[in-house]
Amino acid sequence: MSAAPIRSVAILGGGTAGWMTAAALSKALAGQGVAMALIESDAIGTIGVGEATIPTIHWFNQLIGLDEAAFMQATGATWKLGIEFRGWQGEGSAYFHPFGTYGLPGDAQMLPHRLIRAWNGGHARDIEAFSLTTQLARARRFARGNGDPRSLLSTLGHAYHFDAGRYAAFLRQMAEGRGVRRHEGRVTRIERDGETGLVRALTTERGERIAADLFIDCSGLKGLLIEGEMAAGFEDWSHWLPCDSAWAAPTAADPAAPLHTTATAAQAGWRWRIPLQHRVGNGYVFSSRFQQAEAARDSLLAAIGTPEAEPRLIRFVPGRRRKAWIGNVVAIGLSSGFLEPLESTSIHLIQTGIGKLLSLFPRQDCAPLLAEQYNRVFAREMEDVRDFLVLHYHFTQGRTEPLWQACQAAPLPDSLAYKVEQFRASGRLMLQGEDLFRDASWFAVMTGQGLRAADHNPMLDSMSEADNLRHLDAVQAAIAKSVAQLQAGGA
Ligand SMILES: Cc1cc2nc3c(=O)[nH]c(=O)nc-3n(C[C@H](O)[C@H](O)[C@H](O)COP(=O)(O)OP(=O)(O)OC[C@H]3O[C@@H](n4cnc5c(N)ncnc54)[C@H](O)[C@@H]3O)c2cc1C
Repeated sequence: MSAAPIRSVAILGGGTAGWMTAAALSKALAGQGVAMALIESDAIGTIGVGEATIPTIHWFNQLIGLDEAAFMQATGATWKLGIEFRGWQGEGSAYFHPFGTYGLPGDAQMLPHRLIRAWNGGHARDIEAFSLTTQLARARRFARGNGDPRSLLSTLGHAYHFDAGRYAAFLRQMAEGRGVRRHEGRVTRIERDGETGLVRALTTERGERIAADLFIDCSGLKGLLIEGEMAAGFEDWSHWLPCDSAWAAPTAADPAAPLHTTATAAQAGWRWRIPLQHRVGNGYVFSSRFQQAEAARDSLLAAIGTPEAEPRLIRFVPGRRRKAWIGNVVAIGLSSGFLEPLESTSIHLIQTGIGKLLSLFPRQDCAPLLAEQYNRVFAREMEDVRDFLVLHYHFTQGRTEPLWQACQAAPLPDSLAYKVEQFRASGRLMLQGEDLFRDASWFAVMTGQGLRAADHNPMLDSMSEADNLRHLDAVQAAIAKSVAQLQAGGA
């Protein structure tokens, strides 16, 4: 006979991960009579960063039934069309990783090959001219993608920058409105069942005891339940991703701010600039092996001018928990691991954690097979994101600082080495169905980081070289025309 259904869920932590989980579970479990509690500690607080997203956020927003206009207003959000990488190919260099696809609708997979063919034939073509999203970002003009496969607008993609604190507050209101009960206080005691090893209850320093069938650990980097209690173990990836620290500081709002995140390579890491409606978020992600914290702080301040608040130092170890689900504890958010903020993937990983939990939602016995599947997919997702990040660090050129030299010399993960080898030889992007970043992203970053393909897909050779160039010119002209129309206020 099946075990009894879950009757109560407790979420430990009220940061972005905790409240996203609370908003999603309270929606998905509505009407099932499942009691939901969230425990957070004002004294401990949240990490307070994590303000740039990627387009997969739309899936989550739909899931929780979020109204975009209300969300943008409440969180001081701005549009994000992609990321501009400055200085990754030496001082003065820049490239753009756009959301959305290259070329005309339906051309997304062949357009890279058309460009590779032109480049290898000695014909200069600017990759940016072939992405409507990039061109709009350059023109500081927002337009929304549409689902019409005949329209150039269907090649667009966007995400948001938002204020992390306001986002958590916004989701809290939503989750509490759906019955999630919030408890304030530091958890100091964790009870386990002596026989099954399952967690039974959490007790706060005020003496409040919260019992549940299922516990979601959203307690941040320390992973109070998944590591502190269940001893999941941690896979340290700092040999691939060298940064382990960040200074963060806000500056005044910039009315002329771009519709993208900026990631600028620096001496021992990189700086982010995330424009919001009411301020600009800035930070310097750096490796403590290559720069002292005080020098890193000075370098951030020299780049951003006078901040609106004292810079805050955050330390982390890049890597992942060996298991994110053990017994009746599922870690979501920083408690499950953190790589680093380049490419803004952490909130996405919270969403995929929630998505996996919903599709593998257990009964009271928390069948280990479900956890096994969760952990397999989790490992694969983290490795996929890791490889995309390592691509940026390894393939810089013209950067002579010790950190960058060390990254250039470090061996690649096998899975990334394979992708790079395939691209260099044949221009093919060897992606798997579940990979987060798709052709346009890999092509933008590989090309932007200076990787060159020796060949293109021979399917293109049914067209002459001259016709290929004419096709590219027509695509470029169509995108330029569309940008001009959008700037003039048309569609
Ligand atoms: C420098 C930096 C920049 C980042 N930038 C981005 C970005 O641009 N985009 C992106 O997607 N992600 C980014 N991230 C990641 C992002 O910040 C996190 O994924 C996100 O904020 C979720 O954090 P969290 O909720 O897991 O943890 P936290 O925000 O740390 O929340 C932990 C919660 O647990 C509670 N808690 C802990 N211990 C106890 C206890 N004993 N008792 C009771 N409560 C407890 C705390 O009070 C808090 O409410 C960045 C991270 C860093 C470090």
